[in-house]
Amino acid sequence: MPIKSRVRTVPHYPKQGIMFRDITTVLKDPIGLRATIDELVRRYKDVKIDKIAGIESRGFIIGTPLAYALGVGFVPIRKKGKLPAETIGHDYALEYGTDRIEIHTDAISKGEKVLLVDDLIATGGTAEAAVILIEKMGGKIIECCFMIDLPDIGGRARLEKRGHKVFALCEFE
Ligand code: 5GP
Repeated sequence: MPIKSRVRTVPHYPKQGIMFRDITTVLKDPIGLRATIDELVRRYKDVKIDKIAGIESRGFIIGTPLAYALGVGFVPIRKKGKLPAETIGHDYALEYGTDRIEIHTDAISKGEKVLLVDDLIATGGTAEAAVILIEKMGGKIIECCFMIDLPDIGGRARLEKRGHKVFALCEFE
């Protein structure tokens, strides 16, 4: 298990009671980093993909080398106000309040096949907002891909209910 065994669990971060799954310990290790990207390249090398969309910020770390290896483009989905050109955004609910993610209006063309990438799926709220944005632009989601799934929290089921395929390299309870 070169990936799961390298994930560091930080108790009570960012707040009491949360077990934060820290991927920096996977990335700092050349075996962990290579295993992560290589496993995803093996999964997607024969799949027709036009773009990888990575969610800020850890989705950029995995999505960009994967896009490079697959020979496809990478587009960032960012928190509110970070992208310089014209954007469209989607607001989504958090436990307390709301958040907003945005994408450049020229990032994805109608009909393009998009692989969505992030480091971790928990409630699926962030990924669902990203999916909605990509679909608003006419993109077709090939799959939603994560390093880590927390299946008990229900994010995978939430995306699958919308008809999306979900893949994760490892799971934590
Ligand atoms: P969700 O929207 O699925 O509840 O939360 C997923 C988002 O929050 C992802 O963008 C992910 O980076 C971040 N996140 C939430 N919990 C964790 C965690 O334990 N570890 C890491 N690395 N990211 C987390």
